[in-house]
Amino acid sequence: MLAIEHNVDLQRYNTFKMASKAEFFAVVREKEDVLAAIKWAKEHAQPIFVLGGGANVLLGKKIKGLVLKNEIKGTGVLAEDKDSVLFSGLSGESWIRFVHLAVEAGWYGIENLFLIPGTVGASPVQNIGAYGVELKDCFDHLVAINLETGKEKTFSAKDCRFAYRDSIFKNKLRGKYFIYSVALRLKKKAELKLGYGDIGKCLLEKGIKKPNLKQVIAIIQEIRNSKLPIPAVLPNVGSFYKNPEIGKKEFARLLKEFPDIRSFPAGKKIKIPAAWLIDQAGFKGKRFGDAGVYEKQALILVNHGQATARDILALDAKIKKAVLKKFGIKLEEEVNIIL
Ligand SMILES: Cc1cc2nc3c(=O)[nH]c(=O)nc-3n(C[C@H](O)[C@H](O)[C@H](O)COP(=O)(O)OP(=O)(O)OC[C@H]3O[C@@H](n4cnc5c(N)ncnc54)[C@H](O)[C@@H]3O)c2cc1C
Repeated sequence: MLAIEHNVDLQRYNTFKMASKAEFFAVVREKEDVLAAIKWAKEHAQPIFVLGGGANVLLGKKIKGLVLKNEIKGTGVLAEDKDSVLFSGLSGESWIRFVHLAVEAGWYGIENLFLIPGTVGASPVQNIGAYGVELKDCFDHLVAINLETGKEKTFSAKDCRFAYRDSIFKNKLRGKYFIYSVALRLKKKAELKLGYGDIGKCLLEKGIKKPNLKQVIAIIQEIRNSKLPIPAVLPNVGSFYKNPEIGKKEFARLLKEFPDIRSFPAGKKIKIPAAWLIDQAGFKGKRFGDAGVYEKQALILVNHGQATARDILALDAKIKKAVLKKFGIKLEEEVNIIL
């Protein structure tokens, strides 16, 4: 039976450790709980907010309506042939565990996404990505429950409209569906992407010429632990901003003024690392009260203790203003701001 609580503290449910209270709160452990929650929300005219691991949200002091904490767990193989496997996870399953299971089974495709905190169900929301791989590269389909009608719908990759840290669930269908399960097509034959970031350098240093899956995730773990703050030690939500994409003309203009500007190609556009822009604007390692910019990686905003969403947003506004003034580039948040 679904238990609905009132005025529940969400601080332990978000990796930014924002002090936040849910007006109404329920943990869902199976599909029936979601359907019961939809019924309750309708009867009480309350909106629903779905919370996974809370690793990509900036929560305000009070979240109106019913917060559903997703604990629907489980994994399974939906289909298999000689080359691939259709591996599915229920949405409250830990993404890290999901990747670990795939690696243990010897399936290729999501190893570069190892150690991204959060749930399987949130992975399509922003089309999670790391080290040259995005979820969309092996996504097959997902099943979601309409939060208005309780009806189920299957979404193909095309339906999800995946883009860089984006999908239909972050835009047009934001807050409209509860993603129930996600199925990925993983390969049985070795197909590794090792050319991104420090992976190649790390392999070279260790003298590994032909790495296996377990060696790849060990290296990813090493790189991530050396660069990213662990939320339990220094609360954060990973990258606070997206890397802005600009046109070639605009890039040529910037290159004249800033010859050492960092960039990488992104289709017809050029991507500029937001961390570089924030660093150049003088914010790396800066602290305003308990809201700060991580000293080793300027893309990450951190909570040094008692920072509130308001403190983080004040810092966010300062950074955006400074970057716009210096480079003419508008930064966009990657994190979901829930006020
Ligand atoms: C240290 C650190 C490192 C990170 N590194 C990366 C990285 O390398 N790459 C990357 O892409 N991200 C990264 N992130 C961000 C984060 O891990 C991902 O966005 C992750 O997918 C969030 O999962 P979650 O379950 O915590 O989502 P939450 O924060 O709980 O939710 C995020 C959004 O998705 C919605 N949502 C969640 N579950 C569902 C569901 N079942 N149905 C419908 N909507 C849902 C929520 O309503 C919310 O809007 C990092 C975060 C941290 C803290």
